[in-house]
Amino acid sequence: MIRTSLKRVATDSRVPHVSIFTGVPGDSGYRVPPGWRASLEWLRRGKPQPTEARVIQAPVILSAAAWGPTQWGKRSAGSAFVFHNRRMPHLSILRSLIAALLLLFVSAASPAQHFNGAKAYEYAKAFAAIGPRWPTGPGHVKAEDFIRNQFKHDQLEEDTFTANTAIGPVTLHNFIVRFPGKKDGVIVLGTHYETNYPLRNINFVGANDGAATTGLLMAIADELRGKKLDGYSVWLVFFDGEEAFQKWSSSDSTYGSRHLAAKWGGDGTLGRIKAFLLADMIGDKDLDIQRETRSTAWLVDVVRQAAKKFGDERYFFQTEEAVDDDHLPFVQRGVPSIDIIDLNYGPNNSYHHTVQDTMDKVSAHSLTVDGDVFMETIRLINQR
Ligand code: ZN
Repeated sequence: MIRTSLKRVATDSRVPHVSIFTGVPGDSGYRVPPGWRASLEWLRRGKPQPTEARVIQAPVILSAAAWGPTQWGKRSAGSAFVFHNRRMPHLSILRSLIAALLLLFVSAASPAQHFNGAKAYEYAKAFAAIGPRWPTGPGHVKAEDFIRNQFKHDQLEEDTFTANTAIGPVTLHNFIVRFPGKKDGVIVLGTHYETNYPLRNINFVGANDGAATTGLLMAIADELRGKKLDGYSVWLVFFDGEEAFQKWSSSDSTYGSRHLAAKWGGDGTLGRIKAFLLADMIGDKDLDIQRETRSTAWLVDVVRQAAKKFGDERYFFQTEEAVDDDHLPFVQRGVPSIDIIDLNYGPNNSYHHTVQDTMDKVSAHSLTVDGDVFMETIRLINQR
């Protein structure tokens, strides 16, 4: 994909993610429930908090008060849990009681189980381990086989076609996996899986650019498999030929998505698509997803709402820009579409399309955020 314009829409309000419980930035394990985390943030910084956090604010204050005289006024960074007290024994029972109440409250306030970002990471790691996956190369054949094998028990369609690329005719392979739903209509999730032909002579494995979102969709498939979905059908599309063969232009890029959008336009499939969600480069440890300006407004709102449910708003839409990507052939045909993309990858974007794009720049935590938001977005679209 390529950036066509960049505009900052918010002052730099992004807060680096630090897990207060573990102290590990971007930790992929236990995650603090959003309301609880927001309260801790509030205690720490004295800043306004989202509405949902207010639910939990009362018992926190109550318990802090009951914990004995505290250094409440200090609100020093990282000390939200250290309630210094004079050890007044007669308060110990009350303390235990309140601790139990708090625990109860925290578990009640916890959102439903989180998406398994660790599994998405493992898929991505295995996929990136194939190595470079440029069309016509040996790694591409292995990548195709990986996808075929992954979905061998699912409704897998292989969409093979010859593209007239900048280097001549090339056989490309899109893959479509269908999970049927009870409602009439389809939600499509897409990613590209190949790497760049012009980068064939360096060890460019596209860990974030191609592999991470391939892993994400594979882990989403694990959530969808084996049950008749109550809502719309969900189709996963693994696009080939997103990258340019020579230099990015509207004719030298997005071969797979242009082909499929035209094909589905011809056979009436596009009319059944309620929403198309494209995932690109969102395994980045330092996740900051831009609002892509050609994306459909209501779909952007739904994704924002989904992020809010998990307290993940800070990762979404702090900046906006126009990005040419696999969603455009669908946008141009009137399909509600969004490109969920983080095009700021490494210092000065230095990991993008370089040998630096390796799995150590990708995190299971980011993939958990993505998966949570994709699954919740599907749920919200089904309710519309
Ligand atoms: Zn790329």
